[in-house]
Amino acid sequence: MPKTAHDKTQLVLENYIGGKFVPCSRHIDSYDPSTGEVYCMVPDSEGAEVEAAVQAAKAAFPVWSSKSPQERSKVLNKIADLIDAHLEELAQAESKDQGKTISQAETLEIPRSSYNFRFFASSILHHVTECSDMDHMGCLHYTLRTPVGVAGLISPWNLPLYLLTWKIAPAIAMGNTVVAKPSEMTSVSAWMMCKLLDEAGVPPGVVNIVFGTGPKAGQALVSHPDVPLISFTGSTMTAQHITKCSAPYCKKLSLELGGKNPAIIFDDANLEECIPTTVRSSFSNQGEICLCTSRIFVQKGVYSEFLQRFVEAAQKWKVGVPSDPTAQIGALISKEHLEKVQGYVKLAKADGGKVLCGYGVDSIQVPDKNKNGYFMLPTVITEVTDSSRCMQEEIFGPVTCILPFDSEEEVIQRANNVKYGLAATVWSSNVGRVHRVAKKLQAGLIWTNCWLIRDLNLPFGGMKCSGVGREGAKDSFEFFTEVKTITIKH
Ligand code: NAD
Repeated sequence: MPKTAHDKTQLVLENYIGGKFVPCSRHIDSYDPSTGEVYCMVPDSEGAEVEAAVQAAKAAFPVWSSKSPQERSKVLNKIADLIDAHLEELAQAESKDQGKTISQAETLEIPRSSYNFRFFASSILHHVTECSDMDHMGCLHYTLRTPVGVAGLISPWNLPLYLLTWKIAPAIAMGNTVVAKPSEMTSVSAWMMCKLLDEAGVPPGVVNIVFGTGPKAGQALVSHPDVPLISFTGSTMTAQHITKCSAPYCKKLSLELGGKNPAIIFDDANLEECIPTTVRSSFSNQGEICLCTSRIFVQKGVYSEFLQRFVEAAQKWKVGVPSDPTAQIGALISKEHLEKVQGYVKLAKADGGKVLCGYGVDSIQVPDKNKNGYFMLPTVITEVTDSSRCMQEEIFGPVTCILPFDSEEEVIQRANNVKYGLAATVWSSNVGRVHRVAKKLQAGLIWTNCWLIRDLNLPFGGMKCSGVGREGAKDSFEFFTEVKTITIKH
């Protein structure tokens, strides 16, 4: 509920506009997912705050866009250094705000946030444009790339700083200025980073962060006529709405959306590696990663063995308070989301599914003070049909379905039989088969005999309802710049 007054003991965030922290008179409650209690007040920004941020970004654009890549690179490296220097406090804040385990924040997400800046600080120095000599016409053609202007960046709650910096870093490296809106449910790490931007020497107005909800602050940003480019990561439904709002202005859009990612496990898979990796790909970050596996197809020859060993491994995954360094799963983001995820398990049962472990089968052990936290055990379902909603819709929680298959052809058809196309994994020791299947799967990212190993140079993104466009060294460079072809007659 938006509020105008707040408890003085709570953390109160402010917008960051034109290099200054600007208080907002309205706030949204932000909950600690591990206790279910409000602990932070997030600005409930509207059109006026977004307008001020866009104006600040517009004013900063001429100077920032005319700096050399080397100068911008230096600032980005400084931001990276400062994030590293504050790793521990950022990780603690991220874990408290989002419910993720401290180890996930400390070892993966905050280090990746600084690496995002370091990566684009380096990659901006190595781009070259194209040139074509048309001697018979006495012409030389070449391309120029220029920053687009004010970039609108909207990010979700599951990997808050990691995904926000994956947008801010390329946008400013290319010379754009930015108005960013993090998720209203996880705003703290972005707010903490604002202080570091200042310290790193980011000129006022180059990065502005406006906090608030999608329908108010987000909507004002995507409908703003002076924001020609929107980079959005979030749900397919919101992306469809953003596409409509952007259409009258022909905005450039990059959309990174949901998934319903299959894992395909053939009889000849190395189960020693496949089982722990597939447990991890199903339940990491509480299953709240767009790349998490949620449909596991296992060839009949190893189906019973896989099912038994997978369930045993899933039951060993420790659900605990996010600050516990031994916990492998923390709390889900919100009460509403927990209920939604649990709702899918009920739906699977109503559709004839069998729940082998987790929600409704085993009980959770958390300390008394966390009894109202949004915890859920890793849950494994089988015996559902491919058409069940829990096999078709994104659940985005610690729930995975396991089903048998007979042939390669059959499993490819079943894996592709969803509206999404983000990621897939294939497990087999037959190299020919791995190539064949990877080629036929409809997904932007395919991991074979592994999961989540990334080279940031290469394209990241989904097909079908999982997204439009790709991110990566070359792809982000192209998205965050406009290209023009110049012809010189000599
Ligand atoms: P969401 O779509 O509800 O919200 C994402 C962001 O959009 C938030 O900042 C929200 O405030 C904002 N928003 C909502 N309505 C808006 C509007 N009308 N105009 C402008 N902005 C608006 O998604 P979520 O629940 O925060 O995140 C979970 C989703 O994100 C899942 O579907 C997940 O798969 C997806 N995701 C995708 C990737 C990827 O790289 N493909 C990565 C992470 C998460």
